[in-house]
Amino acid sequence: MNRRTYQQRIFIYFFAAFTLFAISVLVFQYNREKSFKTQQLEARLGIISEVVNAYIKNYGISEADSSLNEIVGAIIPQDVRITLIDQEGLVMYDSFVEAYPEMENHLKRPEIQKAFYSGDGSNIRHSETTGQDFYYYARFFDGFFVRCAVVYDIEVKDFLKTERLFIFFMIAQFIIFGILLYIVTNRLGIIINRLRAFTMKAGKNEDIDQLEEFSDTEFGEIQNQVIQIYSNLKRTRDELTVEKDRLSKHLLALNEGVAFFSSKKKKLLANSNFIQYINMISDESSISAEHFFEIQEMEDIINDVEDILSSDVPIQSRNLPQFQYTLFKNEKYFSVQAIVFADRSFEIIIRDITKPEKRRLLKQQLTSNIAHELKTPLSSIHGYLETLMNSKDLDPEKISHFLERAFSQSERLNNLLNDVSVLNNIEDAGDLFEFKDIILKHVVDDVIENLEARLSKNNIQVNNSIGPGVMVKGNDSLISSIFQNLIENSINYGGEGIEIKISQSLEDENFYYFTYSDTGVGIPEEHISRIFERFYRVDEGRTREAGGTGLGLSIVKNAVQLHKGKVSVKNVVEGGLEFFFSLAKNA
Ligand code: ADP
Repeated sequence: MNRRTYQQRIFIYFFAAFTLFAISVLVFQYNREKSFKTQQLEARLGIISEVVNAYIKNYGISEADSSLNEIVGAIIPQDVRITLIDQEGLVMYDSFVEAYPEMENHLKRPEIQKAFYSGDGSNIRHSETTGQDFYYYARFFDGFFVRCAVVYDIEVKDFLKTERLFIFFMIAQFIIFGILLYIVTNRLGIIINRLRAFTMKAGKNEDIDQLEEFSDTEFGEIQNQVIQIYSNLKRTRDELTVEKDRLSKHLLALNEGVAFFSSKKKKLLANSNFIQYINMISDESSISAEHFFEIQEMEDIINDVEDILSSDVPIQSRNLPQFQYTLFKNEKYFSVQAIVFADRSFEIIIRDITKPEKRRLLKQQLTSNIAHELKTPLSSIHGYLETLMNSKDLDPEKISHFLERAFSQSERLNNLLNDVSVLNNIEDAGDLFEFKDIILKHVVDDVIENLEARLSKNNIQVNNSIGPGVMVKGNDSLISSIFQNLIENSINYGGEGIEIKISQSLEDENFYYFTYSDTGVGIPEEHISRIFERFYRVDEGRTREAGGTGLGLSIVKNAVQLHKGKVSVKNVVEGGLEFFFSLAKNA
C-alpha cells in the first residue's frame, strides 16, 4: 500500500463525512429557522386579521370597501394584502385588487377550507399574477373570512448571512480536525511504511537480523506479532533447508539411485546414481530424471504406478503401494522399486544388485556342484563298505585294499568340505577374518616345511626368495592357504623333478607383487582362462586321483581378492606355469 494514497484516501473520507455533517447541521438549522419565522409571520397576520375584524365590527362590512383602504394604509403594513370573503366564498374586498367583484369564488382555497373547519388556516402558494410565493392566512369570524397574505421570502442567502459565524466555526473545526488527522495518519503512515519495508525484505527472503522498533500501541503489538510469525516461519524454513540439505547429502551418499516424483510425474528430487542407472539401463545418456518414464524396460513398473495414480481409491499411509522388478541389462542386475505415497507422489529406487545376484547364482551353482561332488566319494565309500559286508570270505589283502580306498575317499570328502568352508567364509564373512602384520617369508617357509615330505618324494625343489622385510597386513591362514594350494597343485599336476620359484617381483605404494612359477607341464591354453572357476578341472580323472577338489585356485583367487589383490596365470614358454598376484600392504 502506498503511504500517500492511504493518507489521501483517509482525507477524502474525512472531508466527505465532515461536509455531510456540516450540510446536515445547516439544513436542520435552516428548517428550524424557517419554521420559527413562519410561526412569527402567522402570529403577525393573526393580529392583523383581528384588527380588520375589530374594524368591521365597528363600521360594518359595507364600510369596508371605502374606508378599509385607509386603515390598511394607516395601520396595516403596505406589504400585507387583505381579502374579505363571505361564507359563500364571494370576495367582498381585496386591498391589492381593485376589480375584486370579478374575482372567482374563493371557497375552495386551502386556507379558507382550513379556516372554515377549524377557525383559521394557512397555505403557501405561488401567485401567477405576481410570480412570487405568498403566505396566505385566513380566519373565520362571524359570517365572513378575513384573509391576510404576504410575500413569503425566507431567503437561503439571508439565512447563510445570519449563520456566518456558525460556518466559520465549522471551517475552523474542519481545519483543526484536518491537522490532527494529518498528524495521526502521518504517524500511522510511518509505521505502515516500516512494516511495508519489513514485509518486502521478508518477501525477498532477505535476512532481518535487527528487529525494527515499533510503538507500544496495539498496532505495534500487531507488528510484533507479524515479526514473530515471520521469525517462526524463517526458523522453520531454515530447519527445513537444513533437513533438505541433509536429505540431499544422504541421497548423494547412497549407493542406490533414488528419485522422488510428484503425482504429475514431475521430478522433485533425484540423486546422481539415479541418472547414472537409468542411463545404464536405457543405453542412452540423459540428465533428466524424468527420462525414466520413457525407458522401455521400465514399462511394467510405470504401468503399475500409473494404475495407482489414476485410481480414486485413497492410499493408507500404513499400507503404501509398492512394486518391485528385477532387470538384467548389459551384464548387470538391477532391482527397481516404486513406492507410492498418500499424496500420490512417488519414489523410485534403483539398486545395482549384480554382485549379490551373481553371488546368489554362484551359490546356487556351488550348492548343486557340491551335491554332485559329494555323491562320487560317498557312493564309492558306500560301495566298498557294502562289498565288505556282503562278502564274508574275502582275503585280508582285498579287505585292506577296500578299506584303504574307502579311507582315501573319506579323506577327499574331508578336503572338499574344508575347501567349501574356506570359500564360504571368504565370501560371506570376509570381515570376520583377523588381519595382522605378516612377514611373508615366514609364512611361505612354514608351508614348504609342512609339505616337505611330499616335495622330496616327488623330487621337487622350492626356491623362496621373498625378502624378510616384505610385510603385509593380512590373514595368516588365508595367506598360508594361497601358497599351500599353489605348491600342492605343482606337486599334484606339475610332475616329478620340477622346480618351484617364489619371489616378490615388484612393489608400489600400496601393493607387493609376487610371482609363483613351476617348471611342470603347465595347462593346455584352452583351459587357462577358466582354471580359477570353482570345480573347474583340466583333467577330471587325474585331478580326482590326485585328491583335488577343483576348488584350490578358487580359494587362491578369493583369498588374494580379500587382500585387495589380483591374480593372473600364464604358461611359461619353456614349460611350466606362472602365477602373478598382488597383496595390499595395508588391506
Ligand atoms: P584342485 O583343488 O582340484 O587342485 P585347482 O582349482 O587348484 O583344483 O586347479 C584347477 C586345475 O588346474 C587342476 O585340475 C589342474 O588340472 C590345473 N592345475 C593347477 N595347478 C597346476 C600346475 N601347477 N600345473 C599344472 N596344472 C595345474
